[in-house]
Amino acid sequence: MSNRTFTMIKPDATAKGNTGAILQMINAAGFRIVAMKTTHLSAAKAGEFYAVHAERPFYGELVEFMSRGPITAAILEKDNAVEDFRKLIGATNPANAEEGTIRKLYAASIGENAVHGSDSDENARIEGDFFFSKLEQF
Ligand code: ATP
Ligand code: MG
Repeated sequence: MSNRTFTMIKPDATAKGNTGAILQMINAAGFRIVAMKTTHLSAAKAGEFYAVHAERPFYGELVEFMSRGPITAAILEKDNAVEDFRKLIGATNPANAEEGTIRKLYAASIGENAVHGSDSDENARIEGDFFFSKLEQF
């Protein structure tokens, strides 16, 4: 069990001004922010980040969406971080997300779903390293 995960507050949530409220929920759930930055992904960088989905029918839409505006990327620390964070964000489709989850509160659709959360310890490390140098993770 690793104690770190990676998140992005996606362009929809940034545009709606929900960054602060989402960070508040992340802190209230007991996650420590290890590293954080706000940036704007190019289509090429968004495509690289989600390359695992390259063959899926929604890939083009996903890349367009994720490069549409600024995102906030962060590495988070907590016991059982990956699993607990997936619980905090809720199901991919907000229609199926539990009450009180970030996606239930702030996501509009399965595509524009407010936040990303790593799905494994290995991906958490790869995704954190995508955005942050070793010097920026402490
Ligand atoms: P994320 O990886 O962003 O945390 P997730 O793990 O819940 O989301 P994935 O299956 O990894 O879901 O899909 C990655 C992202 O691709 C989703 O968060 C969503 O933005 C988009 N996506 C997934 N399925 C669809 C779909 N059917 N139609 C449109 N967009 C989709
Ligand atoms: Mg995923």
